[in-house]
Amino acid sequence: MHVFSVKTSAHEELLDITSRVEAAVRESGIMDGICCVYTPHTTAAITINENADPDVRRDLLKGLRHLGLENVSFDHAEGNSPSHVKSSLVGCSETIIVNDGSLALGTWQGIYFCEFDGPRTRKVYVKII
Ligand code: ZN
Repeated sequence: MHVFSVKTSAHEELLDITSRVEAAVRESGIMDGICCVYTPHTTAAITINENADPDVRRDLLKGLRHLGLENVSFDHAEGNSPSHVKSSLVGCSETIIVNDGSLALGTWQGIYFCEFDGPRTRKVYVKII
């Protein structure tokens, strides 16, 4: 398993981790297989979306904020239930096909680490089989 850290600098943020996942694929030497990108946190997530217009990244966060989770009277005493819900909605992993030693991403796709309760230092696990 390949592990790397990401340092987030805002309460909510999407960080492009595509090049770091690609590096893990190269390092593995695996030419054809499956790459699992996973984050072991309950208030963060992994997603794949557009890598061209940075407005899309901002709009993903805007869209999630529009759910109005901050106005729900949750029970969890830590007070960060909106972050937990967003983590579960987006999901803590993505699976990408490895073809000819590269991630089979579309031209406009990037892999993002989603911070929903930052800033913090987080871990990302990459397993290629
Ligand atoms: Zn919590």
